Order: sequence, then structure tokens, then C-alpha cells
Amino acid sequence: MENTVHCLVLSFPAQGHINPMLQFSKLLQQEGIKITLSTTIFFGNKLHKLPPSITLETISDGFDSGGFSEAKSFRAYLDHFLQVGPQNLEKLIERLGRTNNPIDCVIYDAFYPWVLDVTKKLGIVGVPFLTQNAGVNSIYYHVLVGKLRVPLDVEEVSLPELPRLRRRDLPSFLLNYEKDPTFLDLAVDQFSNLDQADWILCNSFYELDQEVIDWTKKIWPNFRTIGPSIPSMFLDKRIKHDEDYGATQYKTEECMEWLNNKPKGSVIYVSFGSLASLNEEQLEEVASGLKDCESYFLWVVRPSEETKLPKDFEKKSQKGLVVTWCSQLKVLAHESIGCFVTHCGWNSTLEALSLGVPIVAMPQWSDQATNAKFIVDVWKIGIRVPCDEKQVVRRNGMKECILEIMDGEKGIIIKSNVMRLKALATSAVGVGGSSYQNITEFVNSLFHFTSITQSNRSPAFILQ
Ligand code: UDP
Repeated sequence: MENTVHCLVLSFPAQGHINPMLQFSKLLQQEGIKITLSTTIFFGNKLHKLPPSITLETISDGFDSGGFSEAKSFRAYLDHFLQVGPQNLEKLIERLGRTNNPIDCVIYDAFYPWVLDVTKKLGIVGVPFLTQNAGVNSIYYHVLVGKLRVPLDVEEVSLPELPRLRRRDLPSFLLNYEKDPTFLDLAVDQFSNLDQADWILCNSFYELDQEVIDWTKKIWPNFRTIGPSIPSMFLDKRIKHDEDYGATQYKTEECMEWLNNKPKGSVIYVSFGSLASLNEEQLEEVASGLKDCESYFLWVVRPSEETKLPKDFEKKSQKGLVVTWCSQLKVLAHESIGCFVTHCGWNSTLEALSLGVPIVAMPQWSDQATNAKFIVDVWKIGIRVPCDEKQVVRRNGMKECILEIMDGEKGIIIKSNVMRLKALATSAVGVGGSSYQNITEFVNSLFHFTSITQSNRSPAFILQ
């Protein structure tokens, strides 16, 4: 049995959740912590590759062959996982304790607040990992404590340390609550028992959102920002060869050669992440907008979206390339990229600002509209494309925003703002930076905890 700290890292089954948690796991490994990564069986089976140093142990959510789509509804999925999850997790922790060195700590996706009960029962450290922006977290917390009531009956909300938010700036789950409360309940429940957690980790960095983070720390003094949780080679380059998160659910297509032939800053990169689904009308507007722009474009259209593209749309031409998935970080880091048309998922947002790429914001659902609000009005690193009364972004609006960023006056200011944030993000994770210090403090506390408990394990954890 090795004599080190052993963390189980449990991720929600989605690309935007496993990426930052896997990346954080790699950092902990650098500090000498043993990591076992876990997610659901269905999602684990879909992952193409994992770094060789990471062991994956899946658990059943009860839907091993189809995941969410196997359940009658998303609510039914979550309810069932809540029933079987705690027991399955406990069994996994006990099994790992018999064959490996025992689990000392579970770092879990904050979407699974029930994990904390398991860690308390077993006497180990429980650490929720928040995958969303600090401002978004604050909004959900205010819903939890009843200071922001749903269904919303106001046009604008004002919360401590946040800009005034109109309805269109709020997470979509607040606006759709009456139709289906499931997603908002899931998002809000993240905060239901944080006061009992040993640590609370958040994928952001202090310099990005100082006021909101100071406010958050007054509520939970053990809240720490540890991001951007992005492979080291794209930030301070401390970990050599770390240039990929390491787990993808889609097959990555090659596009570097295509980019290599394009002039500096001449390509529009377009991606709506791993989950958002655009209707045919919207896809047609995006396709036409891109065709009408002077610039080159690289567009990620996932296999499930491809069939909705206009019939005559060329997937590979002089001007544009469509891929089903790419290494987004490598693309954003490529000097040919001039702007990023994005759905504003939190990882994509952090990646764009960490790599100094101006944003054309086209939020779709979940927290994305709020991220877009911060992108445009707080950090001033992008422009949001207007939509019409049908909530569709039209080709001309999109084209105008792209032009403004690629060639306009505003584009110059935005580029300089995003380069400033890139520098701040890099120093946050670099030696002595705010996230670096928080991670060091967290790691030290784990070693301290383990040194106390190692002689004192309950029988379930002792190697048999
Ligand atoms: N991503 C990628 N290749 C692609 C599209 C997306 O590697 O072609 C990655 C992207 O770098 C990010 C994640 O998928 O880390 C998407 O997370 P995000 O929070 O932006 O959006 P979500 O998919 O959760 O809506």
C-alpha cells in the first residue's frame, strides 16, 4: 500500500464537467496525490482516451446503456441516481480501500450534493467542485435562500456585487421554471449543504471576479478558486506536455494543417459546445452569416447536429471547414484565429480569455446568457449578437458583430482587454498566483488530514 493521499474525483457525465475536474486531478497528481477518477458507467464507456496516469472507476446511475436518454425524463434520471448513487459510491470507496490505499477525500461535482452525506458517514473529506462562474453561483444561491423568487415576476434583478441583470441575462433555468423545474432544482441544490463541506472549490480565479468572490467567501470561508482549470501548456506551461484535457466523448478531427495555411487573425472559430442543440432555422442563419463574412471560418458541428445543416452547405471549401469535434484549446491558441463565436459555456469562456481570443457571444441555455453578460459588460471581452422575437440570431446581426470584432474600433479595445485577462489568468495559476496558493493550501490540508487519520482508519478502510 502506498503511503499517500488518495482522492476520488467524481464527475457529472458531461464534457464541460469532466474537463475541468480531470485537469484539476492532474494538478493534484503533480503534488503527489493519488487520483482515481469516477463518473457514470454509460459516460465512462463513451470516453475516447484518458491520460495513462489516471485510473477510471465508473459507478452505476441505473442507466448503464443509455444514460439520460434511457430514463423517462431528466427528473426520473436524477431521482433514480439519488436512490442508487450513495450506495454505489460507498461500495466503490470500500472496494478501492481493499485493493489500493484507502480513499481519504472525495472531490465531487457540486451537482451531486448527496456525496457529502457519504463522506461524512465514512469519516473522509468531502469537497464539492463548482464548475460554473462565481456570479452564476451567486444567482442560484439567492434562489436557494429565497432572495430571488421563481417564477420571476420582475424585469430586472439586482444582487450583491453583480451587475443589474435583465431577464435575458439570467440563467435560462430561472425563466423556464414553470415549464420544468428540474434543471433549476439541480443547479440550486448545489448550494444546499455547502456550509457542511470541508472545502469548496470553484473553477475560476480571484482576479476575474474579486468582488463576487470576496462576497462568496463571507458566506463560505472555505470557498477557494482554483482555475482556470486548463491544461498547463496553454497557461503558465509549468507541466510539460500537458496540452489536452485528456478525455473526450467525440472523435477529434484534425484541422491544424488547414489553420496553418491561414493568415494571422483571419479565421472565425465557431462552436456551441458539447450539448447545445440549434434548430434548422438557426443553423441556416449561422451558415449564411459565415458564408457572407469575408473571413475564413472553422465550425464545429457535432454529428447529431450535422443533418440539420442546409443541404447545399459545403463542409470543406477554400473559405471554411466544418469538423465534428476538434481540440478546442489548440484551435484557440492558433495564431490564425481572430475571434470565437461561442455559446458561452463556462469552459469555453475561460478558454477564450486564457488564450486571448475575443468573443462573439451567442448564448443558448443554462448559465450561458449570464456568462455572456459578464463577457460583454463586466470584462468587456466580447459582443453579444442580438436575436429576434423568435430568439433566432439572424445572419446580418452575426456578420455585423464579427466584423466589429475582426476589423472595427471596438475590436481593438476588446482584444486589449482579453489580452489583459489572459495575463491575469496565467499569473493566477503560476507559482505564487492566487489559484496556485489556494491549491497549495488545499493540498497541504489533505496531507495533514491523512497524516492524522492514517493510524486511525475504520476497519472498512484497512487493507485486507
Ligand atoms: N470542446 C472541444 N472540442 C470541440 C468543442 C468543445 O474540446 O470541438 C471542449 C471545450 O474546449 C470545452 C468543452 O468542450 O472544454 C465544452 O464545455 P463548455 O463549458 O464550454 O460547454 P458545454 O459543452 O458544457 O455546453
